[in-house]
Amino acid sequence: MADDADRANDNIDLTISHCLSRAPKFDGPSLAECMECGEDIPARRQAVGGRTRCVDCQSVLERRR
Ligand SMILES: [Zn+2]
Repeated sequence: MADDADRANDNIDLTISHCLSRAPKFDGPSLAECMECGEDIPARRQAVGGRTRCVDCQSVLERRR
């Protein structure tokens, strides 16, 4: 049974790293102000890390994709 559990753990690790590699990069600190419009980025949003745009600009950007 230990082998099955180990294999399951390996699968979970692979899945997590796969998801992380595909997720947007949240490395580096967030900006205090939006790089597009200069609006303050809310502290709760900054806390996520790597935020460079306000909610409005980010949603516009994501709609464009
Ligand atoms: Zn903005």
